[in-house]
Amino acid sequence: MRFNDRGLLPAIIQHAETGEVLTLAYMDAQALRRTLEGPDVWFYSRSRGTLWHKGETSGNYLKVHSAVADCDSDAILVKVRPTGPACHTGQESCFHNPASDTEEGHELDEGPGVVEELFDTIRDRKLHPTEGSYTASLFGPDATASPRRSSKRPARWPSRASEAMQTEPPRKAPT
Ligand SMILES: [Zn+2]
Repeated sequence: MRFNDRGLLPAIIQHAETGEVLTLAYMDAQALRRTLEGPDVWFYSRSRGTLWHKGETSGNYLKVHSAVADCDSDAILVKVRPTGPACHTGQESCFHNPASDTEEGHELDEGPGVVEELFDTIRDRKLHPTEGSYTASLFGPDATASPRRSSKRPARWPSRASEAMQTEPPRKAPT
């Protein structure tokens, strides 16, 4: 496989039975290896710069059925059997909004998976407290302050996401 100049490979995730396109995310070499080993799909989290075990937080794993490379090996199509909604919104697919040529109403949309990446980041932070990386990834390039100092800064994202963490994960609609 040919990774892009950031070492990432776009991965299209498709339902093995219905053919529905569920999400688009990125894999680095390690995520690709783990995905090919199975049974779950792994991604690379661009928000925290680490491996991302999809479903680790939500319980909505993507079980690998098969994987194929595109014609010039710079993208991968993974057919899966999802154990729940692929999207953090509770929708089966991340692709459920009408396309628009404006950015209106999409301030928080940095791409499919970003919010779930954030949830996983927070969970990871709780389970494995480490200095620096989590806070830095949330506060951006300005956050060169120590974790102790930056943790006292008011922040929308972490508090909102923490509230969301306390709610039940989206349940699969009965079919
Ligand atoms: Zn989504």
